Amino acid sequence: MTDWTINDAEELYGIPCWSDGYFGVGDDGKLLAVPDVAGGQQPIALIDVVNELRADGVQLPVVLRFHDVLKHRVRQLNDTFVTAIANNDYDAPYRGVYPIKVNQMREVVDEVVAAGRPYNYGLEAGSKPELMAVLTYDLPEDALIICNGYKDADYMRLALLGRKIGRKVIVVIEEFGEIETLLRLADEMNIEPLIGLRIKMRTKAEGRWSHSSGERAKFGLPISGMLNAIDLINARGYGESIQLLHFHIGSQLSDIRFVKEAVQEAARIYARLFKRGVPLNYLDIGGGLAVDYEGSRSNNHSSMNYSMADYADGVVFDIKQICDLEDVPHPTLVSESGRAVSAHHSCVVMEVIGEISNNANPVAMGPVEGEHILVSNLRDLLSGLHDEQNYQDSYHHASVLLSDVYHAFKLGILKLEELARAETLYWRVVSSIASMLDTMDHVPEELAEMQVAIKSQYLCNFSLFQSAADVWAIDQVLPVVPLSRLDEPPTKKGTLADITCDSDGRIVQFIGPQSTTPTLPLHEVGENEPYYLGLFLTGAYQDVMGDTHNLFGRLNEAHVFVDADDPSGFYIEEFVPGSSAAQVLQVMQYNPAAMASKVKEMLDRKVAEGTLRSRDGVKLVDFYEASLSGYTYLHNAEG
Ligand SMILES: *Cc1c(COP(=O)(O)O)cnc(C)c1O
Repeated sequence: MTDWTINDAEELYGIPCWSDGYFGVGDDGKLLAVPDVAGGQQPIALIDVVNELRADGVQLPVVLRFHDVLKHRVRQLNDTFVTAIANNDYDAPYRGVYPIKVNQMREVVDEVVAAGRPYNYGLEAGSKPELMAVLTYDLPEDALIICNGYKDADYMRLALLGRKIGRKVIVVIEEFGEIETLLRLADEMNIEPLIGLRIKMRTKAEGRWSHSSGERAKFGLPISGMLNAIDLINARGYGESIQLLHFHIGSQLSDIRFVKEAVQEAARIYARLFKRGVPLNYLDIGGGLAVDYEGSRSNNHSSMNYSMADYADGVVFDIKQICDLEDVPHPTLVSESGRAVSAHHSCVVMEVIGEISNNANPVAMGPVEGEHILVSNLRDLLSGLHDEQNYQDSYHHASVLLSDVYHAFKLGILKLEELARAETLYWRVVSSIASMLDTMDHVPEELAEMQVAIKSQYLCNFSLFQSAADVWAIDQVLPVVPLSRLDEPPTKKGTLADITCDSDGRIVQFIGPQSTTPTLPLHEVGENEPYYLGLFLTGAYQDVMGDTHNLFGRLNEAHVFVDADDPSGFYIEEFVPGSSAAQVLQVMQYNPAAMASKVKEMLDRKVAEGTLRSRDGVKLVDFYEASLSGYTYLHNAEG
């Protein structure tokens, strides 16, 4: 395997397929972030960033945010629509909005707003707190603020407050009852609202988010409701306020056919309403632009069968064609792409801290005088294994023997020592068969499952529920790659387990060179050198949806910027500390100060009783207090 190259590593982990050019491997085997895909700037070695953070005492796991990637995504989305509009002779501009629910971190929204300024790129809110955040941004005059989600009077008051401060805030009516409230408040506050109407779409996307459209969708007005809404708004004298038509058929639309169908349906409705005299001006196609997490360019739910350019071009072409046929002016085009903007910019770095293996801790396997025949049968099976035999038969034989061994133990026939020896022999048989299978082209399914079962689980210092909720909730596939040693061929394979007490806290699906695979290729983890893994494309939803299962809190975060003048090519502008134990406990109604004094009280009592020395008591109190202010994850080995 001496002819291993970094290209082999890139291919093995599917990097060119899922990274969109933002990640690659350096000659020294380090994983690189390439924020400037055009190639002008020096790439950043992720492990250098991690080493700098560790040197500053920052604990892992840590989120790395590459602001330059985020900037690039915002520009790319806008430029792609500008190009599609030019290529299709479309007569109106693009006015995209970033839906902050995808990642509401202030620094992320700041960066998106700054990068989007030249394009009049706006923001979308789906709740009152989101709108409160959105209203604080100094957006360009022509940029939109779109308000989605169910709304009470205060949500609408906030939107109208936005109108008072000169923002183009559009309230999208999701449900008929919202109209009455909005118009009443508009009268009260004496301000002209901007109104959008959400269509309950007939077009139904397949896949994870199929419930966002079709008859049973939660949001939107069917055509009858839409016509009644327009009549009501007209009757109240606000007809001129109806400016936008909105739809959203779901997130991560893997198949472009559903995008096209939906756009055609909506464009037709737009044109017909326009011809009825509704002064519509904007057509908002919602979110759904997908991310190719697994890099297969297919309509699998973690993938997509089109590019961003295909998407923009298809949308612009279809809307133009229908509007031209219907002889209505082209609407200003709005989209609410979230995932496609923010997924790439952040990753989670975690350390492999252990290996869980069925082969670990073997006992001596040699024959023992008078041992039970079941144990010696297993030993004979092991010593009789050879290359040309029927592997499947040997595997069945071993499985039956092990099951007999457990029965015999339950009935009191086997000793504990014999059971331990039998287990060791069994796992030795299975791993011998597994290694013989490695050279086979076609492995029967049953043996393939066994091959996975024998692989180690690598224990990683992170919580799946905090950092990659969708891996658990919807079987999302996310790329995982070691940060270093990519110039060496990986010699091991395994699955990943997190440190929560939940057996669901594991990753068992990875991106391979062709398709997804049940194990991740890894290097032998050394005693002295830390081995880091990066979990990628976590910038959309994963970053902000995590829960504190087991009270593992938010992660430490580093905001990384390209810096051409620095020898390492980067600088860390900001470090945002993750949750302390005290913070997550407070959310659950504990009072950390009271907890500390309670523990002190109990220790003092032991000191008073004479069972604990005062000096040791003080140390333990200090330690408990320090733990409260400490990070919730495991302390790095040398710390
Ligand atoms: C979630 C959501 C979005 C964002 O969708 P992406 O698939 O992340 O682009 C946009 N609009 C609405 C109404 C949403 O609910």
